[in-house]
Amino acid sequence: MEIKDFVCTGCALLCDDIGIKTEGNTIEKTYNTCRKGAARIRGDEERMTCTIKGREENIDKAITEAARILSEANKPMIYGLGNSSLEAQKKAIELASKLSAYLDDTSSFCQGPVVEAILEGKVPTCTLDEVRHLADMILFWGSDPASSHPRHLSRFSYFPRGEKRQRGWEENRTAIVIDVRKSDTSEICNKNFYRIPPGSDGELIDALTAALNGKIPKVSFGMSSKEILELANLLKKAEFGTIFAGLGLVYSLPEIEPMIKLIEALNKSSNFHLMPMVGQYNMRGFNHLLFEKTGYINRVKFDGNKVDHGPHCSVMEVLNSGETDAMLIIGSDPLGCFPKSIAEKLKNIPTIVIDPARTFTSMIADVSIPSAYTGTEAAGNAVRMDGEKVEITPFIDSKKLSDEEILKRILEAI
Ligand code: SF4
Repeated sequence: MEIKDFVCTGCALLCDDIGIKTEGNTIEKTYNTCRKGAARIRGDEERMTCTIKGREENIDKAITEAARILSEANKPMIYGLGNSSLEAQKKAIELASKLSAYLDDTSSFCQGPVVEAILEGKVPTCTLDEVRHLADMILFWGSDPASSHPRHLSRFSYFPRGEKRQRGWEENRTAIVIDVRKSDTSEICNKNFYRIPPGSDGELIDALTAALNGKIPKVSFGMSSKEILELANLLKKAEFGTIFAGLGLVYSLPEIEPMIKLIEALNKSSNFHLMPMVGQYNMRGFNHLLFEKTGYINRVKFDGNKVDHGPHCSVMEVLNSGETDAMLIIGSDPLGCFPKSIAEKLKNIPTIVIDPARTFTSMIADVSIPSAYTGTEAAGNAVRMDGEKVEITPFIDSKKLSDEEILKRILEAI
């Protein structure tokens, strides 16, 4: 069977032009995918089994045990959800509210400040389709889409012809990279690559803002005032510009406000936008849903009708301080990616993992519940990195429950 226009959930670009050739439930070939997307669609990872305390069990018993652990906990925490559909995320928010639980996701320590500034209307943003059709200036700041979002440059930001950019990258688009290292993207845009020392992004932002406000810019590293003035002049000539903020930038800035000020200064004469380079395919969806419900994008604790919010509700802080006494982790692997001193606190509390694939965290979990892959095996909706909603239709018949169904059954059991 040939499937057209399938949505890939390999990253938050959610490419919707994927072709797939199947034989029964076996994927024979994928078209238009990058290697990352093809691996995601084939489901190359080892699947998780359903276990309680390491012993294989049926899913009904695992759901009952998960519900028992969560309802007996005084301060449970729900974490993850960047790789879940909007429908599953809604159920998780409902569950957190019912349990008076902490709720957080990866945006808490990555793109949260950028998404928050956009949702609060503090900084202009745009869609990827607008970038393709209108953008003549692209700035990848601390981001390397050629590695992280492999089809970004070809579908939207650099190579394609757009309505107002018929000559594409050869004549109509200028791409700039600011990074601490020579990345794959910087090699593609090597004419405009500015290599800066780690941690100096804020200094360059302030210097560019000063230059745009008519002052003489200065930085303590190897860029002269003349080079900064030339870069500021290049940027302010843009008809439609977008800054793609990567983790390199976000991690380097204690606050996002200097970037907002830079865009304000640029927009006295230009038309610039900010977009987060979101990794997990639906992290932004979680931020949007939680923002609609609580006014916050992450780091919350429900308490009856009240919602507490702040760094003390972040997954890192709650785990580190020992505040939580049970954790439900959905589509995430803290043991594989958190600092060791924090991740090992998971061993002290009952842990439930819902995930399609086996992870380090699932290996130590008290309860592990395997789910279907949203995309290939389960339907749903998601929010792309630019805030656009995308519908996902599966093409494989799977006996596995979706995240949404598992969370619904846990909710019913509590
Ligand atoms: S760029 Fe992302 S969404 Fe597109 S095919 Fe690759 S992994 Fe999938």
